[in-house]
Amino acid sequence: MRIARVRLFRLRQELLHSFETSSHRKSGIEHVLVELTDEDGRTGWGEIASPSDPYFGAETTATAWEIATRYLVPALQGREGDTPTELESAWSRIRGNEFAKAGFSGAVWDLFARSREIALSEALGGTRAEVVAGVSLGIEPSIDDLLTQVALHRDAGYGRVKLKIAPGWDVEAVRAVRAAHPDLDLHVDANGAYPDDAESTQVFEMLDGEGLTMIEQPFEPRDLVAHSRLQARLATDVCLDESVVALGDLHTMLRLRAGRVLNIKVSRMGGLSIARTAHDIAVDAGIPVWCGGMHEFGIGRAANVAISSLPGFTLPSDVSGSDKYYAADIVDPPIIAVDGRVRVPRGPGIGHEVLVERIERAATRRFDSAAADAVHADVASG
Ligand code: MG
Repeated sequence: MRIARVRLFRLRQELLHSFETSSHRKSGIEHVLVELTDEDGRTGWGEIASPSDPYFGAETTATAWEIATRYLVPALQGREGDTPTELESAWSRIRGNEFAKAGFSGAVWDLFARSREIALSEALGGTRAEVVAGVSLGIEPSIDDLLTQVALHRDAGYGRVKLKIAPGWDVEAVRAVRAAHPDLDLHVDANGAYPDDAESTQVFEMLDGEGLTMIEQPFEPRDLVAHSRLQARLATDVCLDESVVALGDLHTMLRLRAGRVLNIKVSRMGGLSIARTAHDIAVDAGIPVWCGGMHEFGIGRAANVAISSLPGFTLPSDVSGSDKYYAADIVDPPIIAVDGRVRVPRGPGIGHEVLVERIERAATRRFDSAAADAVHADVASG
């Protein structure tokens, strides 16, 4: 494979139901789509699923665009490689910026799988024909609203529900959901919102009695010692998300016993190759993994389905149908969950046709490496 052309599209889609986490509320999602074309005219697609604002991590849509056009495109343009990792080595010098890299990694893997005429899942070593999907529910205006949302998604067949929590929206909300759904596979995600103090410890000890599958990212991402201390106190598994960006973080997590579950988020870790390696390390260490989401559109969502088909992904992943979040998908067929399960496609690459014309039409910003003086002259439009 030799990369002959790179196109980028910045695209916004409105959320059907606005979503609030411990840090902020959002009503729409803006991601950057990456299209790679090889010398034979084959294309591969990836999605930079960075949030618009630096509240989940340091990156934003704008920084991802800058890193993509200024560094990633020039590094990849004209590059040749037989495997995804050979092509990914093009950006090995670039530190951080995992979301931006992950979008390019997805496109490289899709292109590779299409060139071999195999499914992305197969290329990655996936073994499942379908993956169990869980839903993530944001902080709602009231507990009644939360109960309505939980009931709605249980009725739609989802067996696992994750609740976003934050100081002031935790024990009462969880107890209300637990009382209404005693058997529900329920877990909570704090996105690092709690200070490491006695009051927080008390909250988590109260949650420990609610039969949760896991408590995700209670503390600030870099404080693995605080997570280790909490895990030692709780029967409930602690899961790490934002804390594990590089493989070194995963080694620290294991050494400190800072959690017993890993959320492998492809975007957070910088792409499919590193996500697969993290999976292998976790499996060896006896740590169950699942795939977290970033409200991906169909392209990133399909890559999440593919990685979730690996054998160590034994917990439900955040790969619910696109229709939970968006009015229309950018791939055909759209990604759907039936009875809380998503089928792993068998077709080449991500296994869905990318609706290129829809993307071209709706993009608010475009970049084309084939355009004259492209690197310096990407033009905002729309
Ligand atoms: Mg999380």
